[in-house]
Amino acid sequence: MLAHEIRARVARGEVSPLEVAQTYLKRVWELDHGLGAFLTLNENLLEEARGVDPGLPLAGLLVAVKDNIVTKGLRTTAGSRLLENFLPPYEATAVARLKAQGALVLGKTNLDEFGMGSSTEHSAFFPTKNPFDPSRVPGGSSGGSAAAVAADLAPLALGSDTGGSVRQPAGFCGIYGLKPTYGRVSRFGLIAYASSLDQIGPMARSARDLALLMDAMAGLDPLDATSLDLPPRFQEALGEPLPPLRLGVVREGLSGNSPGVEEALEEALAVFRGLGFDVKEVSWPSLPLALPAYYILAPAEASSNLARYDGTLFGVRGEGEEIFEVVEATRARFGLEVKRRILVGTFVLSSGYYEAYYGRAQALRRRLRAEARALFGEVDLLLLPTTPHPAFPLGGRPDPLAMYREDLYTVGANLAGLPALSFPAGFEGPLPLGLQLLAPWGKDELLLRAAFAHEEATGGAFVRTPLGEAL
Ligand code: GLN
Repeated sequence: MLAHEIRARVARGEVSPLEVAQTYLKRVWELDHGLGAFLTLNENLLEEARGVDPGLPLAGLLVAVKDNIVTKGLRTTAGSRLLENFLPPYEATAVARLKAQGALVLGKTNLDEFGMGSSTEHSAFFPTKNPFDPSRVPGGSSGGSAAAVAADLAPLALGSDTGGSVRQPAGFCGIYGLKPTYGRVSRFGLIAYASSLDQIGPMARSARDLALLMDAMAGLDPLDATSLDLPPRFQEALGEPLPPLRLGVVREGLSGNSPGVEEALEEALAVFRGLGFDVKEVSWPSLPLALPAYYILAPAEASSNLARYDGTLFGVRGEGEEIFEVVEATRARFGLEVKRRILVGTFVLSSGYYEAYYGRAQALRRRLRAEARALFGEVDLLLLPTTPHPAFPLGGRPDPLAMYREDLYTVGANLAGLPALSFPAGFEGPLPLGLQLLAPWGKDELLLRAAFAHEEATGGAFVRTPLGEAL
């Protein structure tokens, strides 16, 4: 059952928040040992469910929360040994807002350490498996959230997207995932990776369910100076008839894809044409350079953000040599990929290299943004694949650069600050495929409307639950 259907049944009194919680918890106990979607479960869930006011807008809804989003009193690790025992004394704004409307946190989901990766294999704890094929990755870094929603261990989830971490796992697991316009969802309580790119985003098995989460959590937050004063109106927008839209298929995303992706693109275009969209091919010339720019800018910001983890290991501060040892021991606990990013980030920011790397990457970012702005003079939405192929095998990308190349189509939206949504659009054998829609800055609602129109036109045919449904 989809989240909005559960919500309706709870509102009619047909099922109680406690029954919903019991059902999902039982399913997690039965299935998660084979998937590894969760790092921590909320032990107070049933007690909290008993206390929920069924009249609240999100009463009866459970959310799986990526473990780099802090939850008060509930362990938050960011997938890192460094934070293995971190009990946050405060709540992320996004989570606080969902809870205030009656939603409950089911548990915390696995991720690549600090969000750095595209497969969830860089988690310090264990890799998560793809519910459609346990020998494959669920994508990353929000792989735990994507696997949980795809396998219906949770009706809803939160992820974070710095360079594709909501959309790519959503694509690999056959669900919907939105990377909102930068600033639409508060980053307060999101453990920072690359602050100018990071956004919290919703994941679900229907565009309508994304709308439920966005309406509850988006909007200005005094605790995040980059948050935008754009009041969300997602559910309302889904009820409005779609005007005839101009859809630009990004030429740079049209070659080098697996046959299933090419087919899914053709099929989706036929659906959009059938909905009255005016479809044409457009070019986003700098898109191929978004990847190298991203892998300079994101590590640069990460190297600065991660400098705060100095004395966390022992929680003590000594003097002289002693401080040095504590810092060294702490840093030694970072995983290999995180250390690689810190090294690259420090290098590209160092004097003598700054202009050659960081400066040029920033210039590229500006160019990418300017090109996108020009494109949105010609078309209302852009379409391109989420990934060039379906989920790859666990252990299938041992070369870090090969892993980085997985993000080819997703990093552009982050660098340009634009909203982007991955929607299920096909299968290659048993493996789901996602396509991606991009909208102009602040037009997140339009993205959801287009994805919803596609979902309705195809009767939700691309959302399957590999292990059977919970409710
Ligand atoms: N895969 C990308 C990276 O490793 C994006 C990660 C993310 O969006 N958090 O940086």
